[in-house]
Formats: sequence, structure tokens, C-alpha cells
Amino acid sequence: MSNSYRAPLADLEFLLLQVLDFARLQALPAFEGLDAQVVREVLKQGARFAEQVLAPLNAVGDEQPAQLLDGRLVYSPGFAQAYRQYSADGWMGLDLPVEFGGQGLPRLVQAAFGEMGNGANLAFSMLPAAVRGAARLLMAHGGEELAGKLIPALIDGRSGATIAITEPQAGSDVGRIQTTAVEQPDGSFKLTGTKIFISHADNDFSEQLVHLVLARTPGAAPGTRGLSLFLVPKIHEGARNGVRVARLEHKMGLKASPTCVLEFTAAHARRIGEPGRGLQAMFAMVNTMRLDVAVQGVAIGGAALNRALGYAQERLQGGAPDRPPRPIIEHPDVRRMLMSMRVQVEGLRALTLEAALQLDLGEHHPDSAAAARALGLAQWLLPICKACNTEMGLEVANLAVQVFGGHGYIHDNGVEQYVRDVRVGSIYEGTNGIQAIDLVLRKLIADGAQRCREFLALVREAVRAAEPRTSPDATREVGEPDLQAIRAAVAHGADQLERISMLFLDWSAQGRTADMEAGATAYLRLAGLVGAGWMWLRMASRAGEGPLRKAKRSGAVFYARYVMIETDTLAQRAQLGDACMRQSVEQWQAGY
Ligand SMILES: Cc1cc2nc3c(=O)[nH]c(=O)nc-3n(C[C@H](O)[C@H](O)[C@H](O)COP(=O)(O)OP(=O)(O)OC[C@H]3O[C@@H](n4cnc5c(N)ncnc54)[C@H](O)[C@@H]3O)c2cc1C
Repeated sequence: MSNSYRAPLADLEFLLLQVLDFARLQALPAFEGLDAQVVREVLKQGARFAEQVLAPLNAVGDEQPAQLLDGRLVYSPGFAQAYRQYSADGWMGLDLPVEFGGQGLPRLVQAAFGEMGNGANLAFSMLPAAVRGAARLLMAHGGEELAGKLIPALIDGRSGATIAITEPQAGSDVGRIQTTAVEQPDGSFKLTGTKIFISHADNDFSEQLVHLVLARTPGAAPGTRGLSLFLVPKIHEGARNGVRVARLEHKMGLKASPTCVLEFTAAHARRIGEPGRGLQAMFAMVNTMRLDVAVQGVAIGGAALNRALGYAQERLQGGAPDRPPRPIIEHPDVRRMLMSMRVQVEGLRALTLEAALQLDLGEHHPDSAAAARALGLAQWLLPICKACNTEMGLEVANLAVQVFGGHGYIHDNGVEQYVRDVRVGSIYEGTNGIQAIDLVLRKLIADGAQRCREFLALVREAVRAAEPRTSPDATREVGEPDLQAIRAAVAHGADQLERISMLFLDWSAQGRTADMEAGATAYLRLAGLVGAGWMWLRMASRAGEGPLRKAKRSGAVFYARYVMIETDTLAQRAQLGDACMRQSVEQWQAGY
């Protein structure tokens, strides 16, 4: 039994090149000349990097976490070298523009590589996630000179980056940030305050580190409208700036990814973008960060699934006492676990890559209306993927422990680490509850359900495309009878989602925001089931001939029959309303 990571190369290639309309990307001027062979080669090299460089450090980082020694963060053994290699080999700038030293490849390819990197070593992959987010933010708001100076250093590894938002009293409620920046006569700022939970707040392997900090200026408006964005370098004019790591947290998982309290004391800072529009500036990297966390969920789900499958084929238990024991994969309950893991991983992997593709189209499509539509669809899909994938990753990792039995509970076998590492995905980058509220109030209600309608139109188009057709002589049905189960489930799920969406629009007109918030998580999960079902339908339709066709079609049937039946339950939960929650909590509190 091997503890090592194996990248899901065949499935990623199938998705990128056969399911996801790769030709639409190739048609964009930005990706002219990008052919399937290049994509295959990048994925192959990415798999090798993940399996050979990152995976061997995964348990090392868990057992020997980063340490704070005399105010200096010292990383787990091997991490500094891997980071240098990661940057030098071009993985950092995979989807960043060539003019800044990146590779200029689509986000779709980056997301596929991201799954392999995160699956091999989630804690390590937190480092590039912050750096890439910072690069996107500087591209959008840093101005030509600053972006031209900083982004190449971020890409080639000379500089690290943090995103510093959270404070003790300001978690989900970002508007309560108190860190203050005071303007100086030369137009720079002195920034003072305490940030908590900051990932990779320092390191011992890059020359520079830039903190992108949300703070308010004296007298600024209360709430989020008073927030501006600042850049605070660790080294300013050759000397240490007024920023230090005050504490390193001891965490449940992700132990090699240091999470810190950062103290700023009259630190030299520079404002990025417009005063009072710091949160809006941060939105430039929201899509990138949400996509990265969504990828994390699939990555851990995929890695845990692979380990569980290998174990279930080798572990011998059960069967008639006078016969040799059977591999546990032959037991119906173990098959149930493996299939429920597999269909969730593969469905959400495909949906996440679809979201990445839509981001590419949104960014690069020459027709502005098509670009806006694609971006709208990506923004609809991203909160769904972020929340569904991180919950799925946890569920699948947990099931992997179950497949391993008692051996799963033993640290040395390496599956319990998946549970601990992936757990935080539902919390950071906007908790999953906040993602659900964002989906309902901003993505559904604020645009009058336009994005939702476009999503449903695409889903129904796939259902229609897979309908059985009558033969030319009109005597029999031809086509896709074995897609019937998934087609019917997706069509029914789409109807349910539409029905609840219209109900929420009505509620919105009546000012029933709390009722929508009470149903938001169920609504998001319903949308996730429909989205992944849509992808299963497309995968099953495109799977060509041979064993892959059978594998995808049986997966689609299982997804329809075992998972998608939850759409009715979720639709009911979404309609419960706030009174149900409020009254029961109040009466419970009063009763004891
Ligand atoms: C390992 C790790 C790494 C992190 N890295 C970074 C980083 O690099 N930079 C950074 O700035 N931050 C970082 N964070 C912070 C992270 O983004 C916050 O923890 C997260 O935003 C939630 O804030 P909170 O912890 O204060 O929870 P709270 O906001 O207190 O939330 C607690 C619970 O209440 C719910 N809740 C709160 N408000 C509402 C509401 N209005 N409606 C409905 N439900 C609500 C939440 O969904 C949650 O379930 C990190 C956190 C961790 C654990």
C-alpha cells in the first residue's frame, strides 16, 4: 500500500480536451496557437512536479510544522527549496501575463494544475495562492509602474505576498476593521493595527514580502465604505518596515502553512487604488481566490478517493470462513462509499473547470457581450463551487478514513491528514454560509435572476442535446437511452432550482431577506447538485467508446440515483423560512 499521491491526469485531460469546449478557448486571440499537445505536456509535467516534488513534503510538513524562532518564521524542511523550484519552473505564473514573466496560459490549465498541486500538498499550495491573488490585484489596481516592478518579483519567487484583512473583531464582518493608515506629507501612509489569521505572514526564503492590507484612514466613513487598500513591504528602503509576526497559531491541520498574528506599528504603506474603495479593489482577486479554494476541495477529495480505492482493492476482510478473505471493495457497503466519493469528486471537478473556462472567456473574449455573459456565469458558479467543493472534500476525506477502518485513524497511513487539512476550506475565503448568502442576495436577487436563467438555459440545452431521437425512418428511438436517468434527474433539479429562485424573487419583493438567508445554504447546495449533474450529463455524452464510456455512464447513473435525489429535500429546506429557525432557537434557549 502506497502513501503517495497520484494525479488524476486522465480525467483532467478528458475534461479539458473533450468535455469543456476547448476549441472556444483556442478561438480567442489571447490563446492563439495553444494546441492540445501543449496542454497535455503541461499537465504531464505538472503531475510530475506534484507527485515527485510536492507530495513527498506533505507528511513532513504535517509532522514538522513551520516555527516562529526569535520572531522569524522558519518553514518545514524542504519547503524553501520546493518554493524556489516552483517559481523557477514557471508554475507560479502559469496563467499570469507573459509581459510580467508569466506563461500566459488559460486559468483552465492553471486550475487543472492547481488540483494536482493542492492534492499533493495543500499546505504548500497555500503559498502560491496568496501570491497569485496579490498579482491579480496589482494588475487591476497597482498602476503600471508598481505592477511592472512587483509582479515579476512575485512570479519569479523574489517576493512573497499576504492578503491581510481579518482582525479579532472583523471576520466575516469586514466593515469593522480598525487598522488605521495616516497620510504623511509625502503622500505615503503610516499604518498601525493588528491582523489575525494571516497565511504565510513571513518566510525565510524570499528577499521581499508585500502585505496587501485593508485599513481605514482617520475620519473615513464607517463600515466597508471607509476601507482603503494599502501595500506594506516587509523591507522598505533596505531596512525592516514596522511589521512583525507576533504569534504563530497552532492549528487542526494545514500545519506547514503558517497562520499568524501580524502587528503593524507605524509601518510605511502606500495606498493602492481609490480611497474608500479598498474592498472593491479586493474584488479583483475574489474570483481567483474562490476558484483556488474550490480547487482545494476537489484536490483533497480526489487524493482521498484515490487512496481509498487503492486500499479497498488490497485490504482483505470478510467472505465465507472456509474461503480466503475477499478484498473489501467487493462488499456492497464499501462500494457505496467509493461510488458516492467518486461521483461527487468527478462532478464537482468538472464544474470547477467549467467555472475556470468561463473566467477565461470573461477575461479574453473579444466580443464584450459574450465576455460579460461568461463572467456573469463564472461569478454565479464560483460561490457554488467554493462551498460545495470544500464540503465535499471534507465528506470524501472522512469517507476515506472510513474505508481504511481503524487504519484510517492512525496518523502514519496519511488519510486522517486530509480531514484535518481540508476542514478550513469551508471557513476561509468567506465562510460557506457567507458564500450562500452572496449567491442568493447578490448573484440571484441583485440581477433579477439573469445569471441563474442563463445557467438554467445551458443546463436545459444539455438535457435537450441528450434526448433520444427518432430514427430517420420514424420506426424506433435511437440515441442515448442509457442517459435517461441523469437526463431526468438534471431536468427535475433544474425545475426545482427555477421554482425556488422565483420564490426568492417574490420574497425579495416583500422584503423577506431573513427568509432567504435561512434558505441560502440549501439553495446553494441545490444549485451545486444541478451544476454537477449538468457536468455528469456532458461527461457521459462525450465519453466516446470503450471502458471510459462505460465508466462515465455508470457514474452518471449513480449520481442521478444516489445523489441527485436530494434535490427535493434541499428544495423543501430552502423554503423553510426564518421563523422556523428563529422560533425554535428562541424556545430552545428559553426552555433550559
Ligand atoms: C487557516 C486560516 C487561514 C486564514 N488566512 C487568512 C489570510 O491569509 N488573510 C486573512 O485576512 N484572513 C485569513 N483567514 C481568516 C478567515 O478568512 C476568517 O476566519 C473567516 O473570514 C471567518 O471569520 P471569523 O473566523 O472571524 O468567523 P466569524 O465571522 O466570527 O463567523 C463565525 C460563524 O458565524 C457565521 N456568520 C458570521 N456572520 C454572519 C452573517 N452575517 N450571516 C450569516 N452567518 C454569519 C459564519 O458563517 C461562521 O459560521 C484565515 C483563517 C484560517 C483559519
